[in-house]
Amino acid sequence: MTAKLIKGTELRDKILEEIEAEVNEIKEKHGVVPGLVTILAGEDPASISYVTAKIKTAHKLGFNEIQDTQPADLSEEALLEIVEKYNKDDSINGILVQLPLPKHIDDKKILNAIDPDKDVDGFHPVNVGRLMIGGDAIKFPPCTPAGIQEMIVRSGVETSGAEVVVVGRSNIVGKPIANLMLQKGPGANSTVTIVHTRTKDLAAHCKRADILIVAAGVPGLVKPEWIKPGACVIDVGVNRIGEKISEKTGKKIAILSGDVDFDAAKEIAGYITPVPGGVGPMTITMLMKNTLKSLKFKLGIA
Ligand code: NAP
Repeated sequence: MTAKLIKGTELRDKILEEIEAEVNEIKEKHGVVPGLVTILAGEDPASISYVTAKIKTAHKLGFNEIQDTQPADLSEEALLEIVEKYNKDDSINGILVQLPLPKHIDDKKILNAIDPDKDVDGFHPVNVGRLMIGGDAIKFPPCTPAGIQEMIVRSGVETSGAEVVVVGRSNIVGKPIANLMLQKGPGANSTVTIVHTRTKDLAAHCKRADILIVAAGVPGLVKPEWIKPGACVIDVGVNRIGEKISEKTGKKIAILSGDVDFDAAKEIAGYITPVPGGVGPMTITMLMKNTLKSLKFKLGIA
């Protein structure tokens, strides 16, 4: 069997087109566009490249986008004031503080200061609570898990009654995707198991999965014999396993691998995501979707 590839890059393009169309419609009817601010403290090259990608996407979609770059020695108090400024700014619907923050700043304190109704990353305790409650209470599902659910649903994979096994219990991926798949409603209604480093028989759990979502950060953790024939395998892992010279730019780039032995797994699974080009491109896409949603909530049209 050769699995159907779920390409995050293709889905991203399709969803961004849908978002752009909605942005144009709202602009015409209501005279406003979504506003997104990304706050970056310091000059960490990886953070700069993430923020640039987010702002570029927002710009392409016609959002009002602000990149607020601050020095690394900015005080915690000053950063809290900046967050508060955007909390009060009516033209801003989404506030994103790029992590990691400089060591002298308490991440949690800053994230908790964001207005939950502008917390488009979905990490504020209020939004975590809304996710637990489920249904209409959910405002901003965290971006990577929301992207994973979109990939499953848009591939036509049946989720209702499906055995979903999630490898990993982080607050960013494992726990929220487990919660999303557990919801009562379309695209969910699954029976969910979460496994982690203390799980007794990881292989036995994985073998039962109709949908296997792996977010461990361990290259090749999931062996092909752990995959149920025909299962949908979502590999969230992004692991740097070496370096190579890019043919396009001539510069050194990282060789990436997922948590699943892709070449062998694709012969057994029914659906599989590649790394790179799988879950990765969906994260920014869902950030844009949450920002648009935030504006729609404000306009009462969500
Ligand atoms: P994390 O916070 O390090 O959590 C990893 C989880 O996997 C933990 O719950 C850990 O269990 C579990 N785990 C690790 N090794 C395991 C093993 N041998 N057997 C069973 N469980 C194991 O990582 P994360 O932030 O969730 O990220 C996971 C991976 O996804 C990383 O590779 C990350 O780069 C990638 N990621 C990708 C995207 C994207 O594509 N957009 C976004 C976020 C993350 P314990 O809790 O017991 O330690």
